[in-house]
Amino acid sequence: MNYHQYYPVDVVNGPGTRCTLFVSGCVHQCPGCYNKSTWRLNSGQPFTQALEDQIIADLQDTQIPRQGLTLSGGDPLHPQNVPDVLRLVERIHAECPGKDIWMWTGYLLAELTPAQQQVVALINVLVDGKFVQDLKDPALIWRGSSNQVVHRLR
Ligand code: SF4
Repeated sequence: MNYHQYYPVDVVNGPGTRCTLFVSGCVHQCPGCYNKSTWRLNSGQPFTQALEDQIIADLQDTQIPRQGLTLSGGDPLHPQNVPDVLRLVERIHAECPGKDIWMWTGYLLAELTPAQQQVVALINVLVDGKFVQDLKDPALIWRGSSNQVVHRLR
């Protein structure tokens, strides 16, 4: 997997103080996408073991307590991202008790593959659906267009 940005301390992409990772790769090609540069899977830079370890350490940091991790992109549920994202969320469950995981995807919750569902089974909130320019509404919280749904899963 490649990624574009990692913010170890972030207060805008989800509730509270968080770590946020923007991964590379998205097939949805939504007109008006705010993050077109992330579409290509090989854009950005490699997501390394060192960065995975850093995210775990940042979530465990008691100096600046984080509420959890945000995964966005690009699309964290792009089939080629799923193995690395699954390993990351499994580690958070094992090593960072009490931290929540929020994820933004262009796929619909009802249409996920079994592999994508394995990831979603381990996260707390999924904001799903493509961005639809005609349904854009700046007043919406945590979503860009009104077709998207904030699923509070657990
Ligand atoms: S799903 Fe998100 S990143 Fe992908 S094209 Fe749509 S708005 Fe852009």
